Amino acid sequence: MIALEHVSKTYPKQATPAVRDLTLEVPDGAIAMFIGPSGCGKTTTLKMMNRLIEPTSGRILLAGEDVTDVDADSLRRRIGYVIQQVGLFPHFTIGENIAVVPKILGWDRKRVTARVDELLHLVGMEPREFRDRYPRQLSGGQQQRVGVARGLAADPAVMLMDEPFGAIDPITRDRLQDEFLELQRQIAKTICFVTHDLTEAVKLGDRIAVFGPGGVLEQYDTPEQVLTN
Ligand code: ADP
Ligand code: ADP
Repeated sequence: MIALEHVSKTYPKQATPAVRDLTLEVPDGAIAMFIGPSGCGKTTTLKMMNRLIEPTSGRILLAGEDVTDVDADSLRRRIGYVIQQVGLFPHFTIGENIAVVPKILGWDRKRVTARVDELLHLVGMEPREFRDRYPRQLSGGQQQRVGVARGLAADPAVMLMDEPFGAIDPITRDRLQDEFLELQRQIAKTICFVTHDLTEAVKLGDRIAVFGPGGVLEQYDTPEQVLTN
């Protein structure tokens, strides 16, 4: 489980907080959707969870442990991160891109290679065909699958996904969403998923937090409740 307790973040030189007194909980194996317009602190919230930035106040607990007490390598292993622009390194092959975190963690070469192939299979890409290609040789949808594979590389308990399908055409996005739900049935990660698309939130979410200008406005335990409001 990942939990935020009264978390606030004010960036340096900013008058108003980007995140204000946010308390929420994502149970193990649940997909929590963070939905809302741009600028409401969704990305800031994810980045605090994996300590890319520090909260101004409040606590973030990963399986009951304050993330400030978890060392960086351990956090990398336990929390995967997938972003919209994929962020694949252009001069790395697909295999090398997926291997970034395992290599940081010092896995030996055999283990890394086996894991890369396993992950490519998991996201529906034949390893022999794709392992040695470069990102520019892949479609947007394929790159996004690689982004998901990279996020899963060290088998994290928690996945943070920041509009992973946001830059993808609607038809491919719909397919990626279906694949993602199928994948989640197999891997059952605890997922925080940022979107500004209500349809996506309802389709994928087990629970939904609605972000708005003054902070998180509403939290729903089932996606249906969003639609009735
Ligand atoms: P969202 O993900 O909902 O679009 P963000 O978390 O990206 O929102 O941003 C929340 C607010 O914090 C915005 O007003 C944004 O301009 C501000 N912000 C984000 N990153 C920084 C930064 N590095 N320095 C200053 N302000 C920032
Ligand atoms: P760079 O800073 O050059 O992008 P890093 O070594 O910091 O390279 O990160 C490489 C990849 O590792 C990132 O693209 C991201 O997917 C993953 N990563 C980095 N930091 C974290 C983190 N705190 N939690 C989870 N994944 C992370």
